[in-house]
Amino acid sequence: MQKNNGKKECPYCSDPNISVVRALLASEFAPAVCKRCGGKSILENWLGGKYSTFFDVLFWVTFIWGLTTDQLAIFAIFPLVFIGYLVLRVKSEELHKVSDKEVLDARQWIFSNVLLVGLLIAVVAAIIKAF
Ligand SMILES: [Zn+2]
Repeated sequence: MQKNNGKKECPYCSDPNISVVRALLASEFAPAVCKRCGGKSILENWLGGKYSTFFDVLFWVTFIWGLTTDQLAIFAIFPLVFIGYLVLRVKSEELHKVSDKEVLDARQWIFSNVLLVGLLIAVVAAIIKAF
């Protein structure tokens, strides 16, 4: 991996024009788009894999610990560790190609979930009103 003023290389044309922040925010829902060739890319296994359990545990341990001890500083542990992880991750990972189909699938998945949650809230609100 080369250093190119902190920019990430496009996996299609190898042109380093994708900013670290853009790479960090890239997801299948909203991938980073290359300024040169228009190729869409994301960092692979972004929040999944072997680290997700660690962050689940860390989140709940610090959350419950913070609630039971009245030490507000404890609530800062999770975001600090998480941001540190993101920064390390984005520096060491390369961008990977993502197809238009994957982007479309991710958008449809989120869209249908938003609809579902909206529907559930409407149903719960209707039930609460009825009683
Ligand atoms: Zn490109």
